[in-house]
Amino acid sequence: MKRLRLLVLMLLPALLSQAQTKPDRVKGDPQLSEVWEPVIPVVTPGKTSQDAPSDAIILFNGKDFSAWTSDSGAVKWTIADGAMSVAPRTGGIRTKQGFGDCQLHIEWRTPAVVKGDGQGRGNSGIFLMGKSELQVLDNYNNRTYSNGQAGSIYKQTPPAVNVCRPPGEWQTYDVIFKAPKFYDDGRVKSPATITVLQNGVLVQYHTTIWGGPEYRGVPEYKKHGDKEPIFLQDHDNTTSFRNIWIREL
Ligand code: MG
Repeated sequence: MKRLRLLVLMLLPALLSQAQTKPDRVKGDPQLSEVWEPVIPVVTPGKTSQDAPSDAIILFNGKDFSAWTSDSGAVKWTIADGAMSVAPRTGGIRTKQGFGDCQLHIEWRTPAVVKGDGQGRGNSGIFLMGKSELQVLDNYNNRTYSNGQAGSIYKQTPPAVNVCRPPGEWQTYDVIFKAPKFYDDGRVKSPATITVLQNGVLVQYHTTIWGGPEYRGVPEYKKHGDKEPIFLQDHDNTTSFRNIWIREL
């Protein structure tokens, strides 16, 4: 017993010094976990979260179609009061520039005068990479199939909630989109994913997109480029858009 007490007394200084130094050894120098490079680029935010930040590409500033084209060449949609509107049966329009991974802000408004129902009420759509449709539709007290209503990835994933404003009021989509990746032989390496806020409310959260839009049947991918134009749909309704900007990620 005496020997044990002696041993403990002999080892005590070493045990105490280890107890004191252990926390430092475990945590280390706090500066070792500081990351200084790369320096984060400065972006000036818009006055509100709806205004374009300094590094955004403006796709529509309310004045002209300079960033847009259509299958027939000149865009035949109309512009009034800072907004573009679908000119029914003139065809959809697409951005001249292609985009892949991106953050997109777009505002849309379905006609104040309600005509039709279901899919026939203020229907348009935003096709990321020209392929997958983020549905634009007046679903304020207007039932349609859930995976075809506003905020849905059309014929794929319904929105989490219906957060539509009444017809004639402006609504926002803020989109985070990750483009699909393909192997050389065309097989899908990783499908696209999309997160969407409608009027500031989450309606799609890191949703997998299963391929291009299919009105009938199952969606599937066909290999395409890393960057493709964004397409806005003409669905015979005079739906409007304004304040469209995008950040490449
Ligand atoms: Mg549509």
